[in-house]
Amino acid sequence: MAWDFSTEPDFEEQLAWMRDFVKEEIAPLDLVFPHMDHRVPPPWLKSVVDPLKQAVKDRGLWACHLGADLGGKGFGQVKLSLMNEILAPYQWGPTIFGVQGPDTGNAEILAHYGTAEQKEQYLQPLLDGELFSAFSMTEPQAGADPTLLECRAERDGDEWVLTGEKFFTSNADHSAFFIVMAVTNPEVSRYKGMSMFLVPRNAPGVEIVRPTQYMGESDDAMGHPHVRYADVRLPLDSMLGKEGDAFVIAQTRLSGGRIHHAMRAVGQAQYAFDMMCERALSRRSGNDVIAAKQMVQEAIATAYAEIEQFRLFVLRAAWKIDQGHGYSPEVRKDIAIAKVLSFNVMRSVIDKAVHIHGALGTSGETPLARLWQLVPAYGIWDGPTETHITTAARLILKDHVPSADLWPSEWIPARMDAARTKFADALEQRRLGESAVNA
Ligand SMILES: Cc1cc2nc3c(=O)[nH]c(=O)nc-3n(C[C@H](O)[C@H](O)[C@H](O)COP(=O)(O)OP(=O)(O)OC[C@H]3O[C@@H](n4cnc5c(N)ncnc54)[C@H](O)[C@@H]3O)c2cc1C
Repeated sequence: MAWDFSTEPDFEEQLAWMRDFVKEEIAPLDLVFPHMDHRVPPPWLKSVVDPLKQAVKDRGLWACHLGADLGGKGFGQVKLSLMNEILAPYQWGPTIFGVQGPDTGNAEILAHYGTAEQKEQYLQPLLDGELFSAFSMTEPQAGADPTLLECRAERDGDEWVLTGEKFFTSNADHSAFFIVMAVTNPEVSRYKGMSMFLVPRNAPGVEIVRPTQYMGESDDAMGHPHVRYADVRLPLDSMLGKEGDAFVIAQTRLSGGRIHHAMRAVGQAQYAFDMMCERALSRRSGNDVIAAKQMVQEAIATAYAEIEQFRLFVLRAAWKIDQGHGYSPEVRKDIAIAKVLSFNVMRSVIDKAVHIHGALGTSGETPLARLWQLVPAYGIWDGPTETHITTAARLILKDHVPSADLWPSEWIPARMDAARTKFADALEQRRLGESAVNA
């Protein structure tokens, strides 16, 4: 397969602008207003962030995630990946550019399946950054295995009645609506018996049981609440897409999201890597800087190789999607591997960066502590590493066939027989020649 994902000069200029903008304008927001990026800003904060959002809009870079067919800019996955890489080190980055999760995936679902009224009430304000949303799939008893999901939606006249518990519904407490996966037909496999619903946060019966914080995060950081849906009555058009289609819809949503997540991992690992190199060249031990030590050099060279391989892999997967492969098995196996690599590369690189910073790296005085805190999440959210390895292996093996025989197809004795038959004439002439010499 030919491949090329060089960046157009115009877009490279945009990326260069973004690199300066995130450093100058967005990084300070993280320091002074941490954890306020996923909620509607109070007026005093709005006056700080709105001009920044406007600057992004003026550059034509606001909310670029929707495809042209859904009324978006149609940037495609390579460009979105390159943007996500730049935004990733900063909590406020995605919000100032209107591409924060889980809102991007939810916007995609609404753009595809929402009614005109839902689009007006929820999608447009979501794209304008005026409200936030949550995605509610995981349950207290079921995460990695969706066949164990139980939250139920039953038809009652011209309403759906939603009943059940969800866990880790990120940002639910600051969201205007949730997209909820619920069982509509318990008689068939969950893959065919679940549907997707739009549930307003203020619908009677929606209850936040408790906030649930991600490891070590402060109480004001984004929560991942346990949510209860107690006989929530929803109009029929709350169902997004067709009955039984929740997995098809979720897959579309999660696949693009996984590429963006992977490229954010690249950006975060690169950020830590740059800190590590600076520190190695600055910190002294004995008569020299620690960068002169072979074991430090090994850490740097290894981290460099890990990031570069990972980055190229993710960009190639993004490029394949842009080439029209959509979310074919060919692309899905790469998305699964990118998900696995996100965790592996983050864990390896951030660990090295923390270690080379010594005690300072473990403190709250560099961004490394927050990056390290993120590592376990990369192995768990959107499905744990093991399930993605299984998916990738299944898809990879589809391109292979078992040996037709007892022995492997590369078994040398059989190949040798075949090769001897192929060259029988030459071998015979050699034998005759050798016999003549020996006679
Ligand atoms: C920061 C964060 C944000 C999240 N946000 C959301 C959100 O907004 N909405 C939402 O719905 N969910 C969200 N989740 C939940 C996430 O999708 C689930 O945690 C994930 O699907 C795994 O489910 P689980 O936690 O129940 O793990 P479990 O299913 O309990 O699995 C635990 C472990 O068991 C092992 N395991 C499980 N299955 C297999 C298998 N088939 N093969 C081998 N080993 C296996 C793995 O080691 C796995 O890590 C979030 C999670 C995190 C960490």
